[in-house]
Amino acid sequence: MYQFSRAIYRELAPQILAPPPSAPRCTNHAAVLRACENVITRLATDRHYFARPARTLFFDVRSYFPMSVQGHVYRVISRYMGYAQRFLAEHPHEGYTAVSNAPPQCRATTRKGTACQRTPMPHNGYCPSHQHLADTEDRELAAA
Ligand SMILES: [Zn+2]
Repeated sequence: MYQFSRAIYRELAPQILAPPPSAPRCTNHAAVLRACENVITRLATDRHYFARPARTLFFDVRSYFPMSVQGHVYRVISRYMGYAQRFLAEHPHEGYTAVSNAPPQCRATTRKGTACQRTPMPHNGYCPSHQHLADTEDRELAAA
């Protein structure tokens, strides 16, 4: 999964602003790379609740770039986030496992209040016995 965050970072690195003289030289570069990785991690583990990843990442990193390249920064981020989302749509389990070192779990909470541990279905993140929750969710979204 981190091939996507590394690709974003590599393409944007030449434009990253220098930090203030008092800070270590690599601070801004490290901050941009970390922001890219955080968004990829969240996308891979929680994509059903992560509505606008490209926008989120852009707002996290825009202050590290000069005004003149903001449009370019947004386009690069959008492009690679599109690739990452397409990859996750096709390989949700691989994506999740790559960033968390653990298999994905169903999004539902059991009646005892603990997280359901069963393996989720790729298309909605719920296990077979919690599919009714996905149906309710769709209806709520449609009604909203
Ligand atoms: Zn479940």
